[in-house]
This record gives sequence, structure tokens and C-alpha cells, in this order.
Amino acid sequence: MDLNDFELIYKENKVKIKDKDKVKSKLRNILGETNFSDSPIDLLAYSKDGTIVGHNWTLEGKIAGLPDYVVWPETKEQICEILKLANLEKIPVIPYGEGSGVVGGAIPVRGGIIIDMKKFNKLLCISDKDLTVTVEAGMNGMNLERFLNAKGYTSGHIPQSSYFSSVGGWIAHKAAGQFSTKYGKIEDIILGMEVILPKGEIIKFKPIVRNATGPQLNKLFLGNEGTLGIVTEATLRIWPYPEERSLISYAFSTFEDSLEAVRLILREQLYPAVIRIYDKDETRRHFPHIGNANGKVMVVFVCEGNKKLVQLEEDITRRECVKFRGVDCGDEPVKHWFETRFNVTETSSSPQYHLTIDTIEIAASWENAANIYHNVLEKVKAIKGIVLFTAHVSHFYPNGVGMYFSFAGVEMEEGSNFEFYQKVWNTAIKAVLDAGGSIAHHHGIGINRSNWMDEEWGKGMPLLRDIKKILDPNNIFNPGKIFDRCWKGGDS
Ligand SMILES: Cc1cc2nc3c(=O)[nH]c(=O)nc-3n(C[C@H](O)[C@H](O)[C@H](O)COP(=O)(O)OP(=O)(O)OC[C@H]3O[C@@H](n4cnc5c(N)ncnc54)[C@H](O)[C@@H]3O)c2cc1C
Repeated sequence: MDLNDFELIYKENKVKIKDKDKVKSKLRNILGETNFSDSPIDLLAYSKDGTIVGHNWTLEGKIAGLPDYVVWPETKEQICEILKLANLEKIPVIPYGEGSGVVGGAIPVRGGIIIDMKKFNKLLCISDKDLTVTVEAGMNGMNLERFLNAKGYTSGHIPQSSYFSSVGGWIAHKAAGQFSTKYGKIEDIILGMEVILPKGEIIKFKPIVRNATGPQLNKLFLGNEGTLGIVTEATLRIWPYPEERSLISYAFSTFEDSLEAVRLILREQLYPAVIRIYDKDETRRHFPHIGNANGKVMVVFVCEGNKKLVQLEEDITRRECVKFRGVDCGDEPVKHWFETRFNVTETSSSPQYHLTIDTIEIAASWENAANIYHNVLEKVKAIKGIVLFTAHVSHFYPNGVGMYFSFAGVEMEEGSNFEFYQKVWNTAIKAVLDAGGSIAHHHGIGINRSNWMDEEWGKGMPLLRDIKKILDPNNIFNPGKIFDRCWKGGDS
């Protein structure tokens, strides 16, 4: 296979390594033969992540970014040695979990060394008394959950990508699982962690419930997307496996009614583990077999935990739904959700029909949630070539929501499909900012949102860049992400 036969998407600013053979031999000395590769097939495999437009590129004979080497370290000492070499030679390093990120976070846009963390996959200990589990950061999400379930626990963190994402990726990308309304997002679940900094120092944040010890440095590494350090270990909260589970669904006449019903349930300090509001178009797509939901907005709920509390939660959930004229659709829609919740067939089959598709999730307060929904819908639907634009709301707080848009379309004007893709992203993000929302809820920044970081953070962004310079003076850690703009748009 000749990688030169492929068109490279992100080729600008690719770092030139002076003596590739010398670096290769040093990496092999550090890692041994089997934990190193520069074979074309491995470089190709690590040229992309789960970013959906990457599937279109594969069919078009294009590759996103090309690494120079791939390594699978087994010890922290090896990682430190790799970082020493990378700093000396000014070679980018890209921490890599399972490559399921969908905003290009793990794409090696400047080339360099992919540090795949899969061999950091040990479960180190469980404390039943503290209800914690300590794992190495390369641990696969579903393996962790299965292990915990077998011992009578759950992590409460079950993203749709559980089968193909890692604990380190969750932390680095600030993930949110499907049961997040009860159990919290990764920042609520993580108690402690170990991080290797770009210059090779190892820092350990104690696994502690809370502390008042000055500015919370650990927070800097939540959502760092591999630009400030490599997470090697984490202590997470766990929970006894729920005793009872109740499945509820209601269909509403309007999106606003469904939002209000859910807002009032949370206001009662009740947190159904799963709540999902599907707008009318998504309801039609996912629940065509539910007659009561015809032309309506479907909401599914999963209440779980202590039997008596579940009953109470169910009663109040039903009461609020009825108050907003919700129509009871029984447990079938929730069972259907359970059966299909890890399916990605629509996503993986669309590129062969030359459709460009993706999802964009954002955060909103209750005050502006409906407004953001309508504003984004109006602006994106006006783009020529859009054939589908729908939304669901799947993460809830007493003070707001995480909203998730899906689009499909084709370029109808002069540009390429990739230009169309960027146009949709930039239009949606601008509409969110104009209506007072935040540009990302749980997929992170990566490449796709990096051009909007200055607008999102304002005067905070130069400060973040200064922190990056202090921690990573040679800018070797996942360059081209978060701190650098990869696309046009935003205030650039
Ligand atoms: C079908 C599908 C469904 C998804 N569902 C969800 C969902 O429900 N909730 C959700 O939050 N996300 C979801 N995602 C997005 C993605 O799965 C998450 O962002 C996940 O947390 C990424 O984990 P990963 O191990 O695959 O990381 P990768 O994609 O390998 O890496 C992601 C980023 O983290 C960095 N990184 C990885 N490991 C480390 C480490 N140990 N230390 C430092 N940096 C590191 C990488 O450099 C990169 O910037 C979904 C994606 C897909 C494709």
C-alpha cells in the first residue's frame, strides 16, 4: 500500500521530522519491537477518529491526518521517555484512547507519534466502602461496566460509545453518559486521577470527595483533549446496581410542553437516570410504530434505584407529564430505546449515499433552550442542500440542558462536501452563541469547534493559551486542537 495515493486533508503545518530513522530506532529502544509501528497499514488506521465526515473521506480516497509512528506503551516510564524524545526533537504526540471522538480530537493533524493507551487497561481496585473503582486510563468503557455489573455495581456512566471508548478519552473529552441526569457527567463521577505532563512530570490528584485547597488544578485536565497531559489512571465513583427500574414514556404536542414537564420534574429534586426528548422529526424517525406519538414530541424516562424512591419518582414524573397534556405511550418506546441505544447504522451507512452527516451538541439554560432550538433549526434549514435537521435533548440539570442536533445534506453549490460540512457546523454554532448558549456540551472542541474558542471564552482564551505555553513550551501535545484554529469561521 502506498499512502501517497491518498489525498491528505490536514496537510498544512505537518511537522517535518529531521531524521525519521533515528527517531524510529530510539522509540524502538524505549518500547521494544512489538509496541512500535510505522507500517503504512497502522499509520492509515490511526489517521482518523470517529468524526463522521471521516467515513466520507475514506470512500473518497482521502485521509484526515497522517502520523509518523504509532506506539503502545505499557508503563509510565516509557511514556516519560517518549515525551523526553518528543520534546528534544519537537515532534507532536497525540494521546489516543479508542478513537471514538467525533470532533477530530485524536486526528494527528501535524503528524507525529500516536500514543495509544490501550495497554493501560487494568482494573486496579474497588472499594465497596467508599464506592469507588480505580482503573488505568486505557480501560474500555463497556469492559469496565460489565466488570462492575458482575460484582453488583454500575459506574452510571454509559455513553453511546461505551463499546469503543476509554476512561482516559472520557476524561480528556469531558464525556456525558446516557444515564447522566441521575449519576452525573464524568466531572461528577471522577474523584482522582494521575496525569503525565508534557515535560514528563507525573502528578497525582488524590481520590477525595472534595477539598478546599486553593484553585482546583485537577479541573484543568478535565476536557484537556490530550493537549495538556496524558491521563494514566483514574478513580471513579460507582453505585450499587439499581434494585428497581421503571420505564415511562409520554408524547407531547409541542417541544416547549415537553421541556416544561421535564424542568418541573427536576425542580422537585427528582433525577430520572435517563430522560430523552425527541423533537417531532426525530420522533417520526425513531418511533414510527408508536401510534400515540404520531405528529408529537416523544419523551422517554428511566427511573431507577431504591424501589420506594423509584415509585415516588415515577408518580411525580407522570403527574408533571399529564399537567402538560402528555399522552401516555407505555413502556414500549423505552424498551425500543434500550434495544437500539448503541446502534449506529444510520451513521455508518449514509456516506455511501454521498450524504454528509454529523451531530452537534450544545448547552443551554432553561430560559433559552427553546429559543436556541428554534434559532439553530431556522438558520441551518436555510442552508441549500440540507435534507435533514433534527434534535433531541438528552442531558438535564435543574438549571438547563444538553441539546443534540443531527444533520444530513449534500453540497449544492460550488464547494466540496467538506465545505458544506463546515458551513453547517459554523452556522449552527453561531446560532447557538447568538441565542446565548454554549458551543459544546460533551463531544469537546477538537478541530471542529476550535475556531469558536475565542468567542466562547472571551478574555479567558489568551489566559488558557498562556497556561498551555507554560505546561507545553514546545507545543508537542496534540497541536492544532483547542488552542489553534483549524477551520475558517468564528471571529477569525
Ligand atoms: C457512535 C458514537 C457515540 C458517542 N456517544 C457519546 C456519548 O454518549 N457521550 C459522550 O460524551 N461522547 C460520545 N461520543 C464521543 C466519544 O465517544 C467520546 O468523546 C469519548 O469520550 C472518546 O473516548 P476515546 O477513548 O475514544 O477517545 P479518543 O477519541 O481516542 O480521544 C479523544 C480525545 O481525548 C484525548 N485522549 C484520549 N485518551 C487520553 C488520555 N488517556 N489522556 C489524555 N488525552 C487523551 C485524545 O488526544 C483526543 O483529543 C460518541 C461517539 C460515537 C462515534
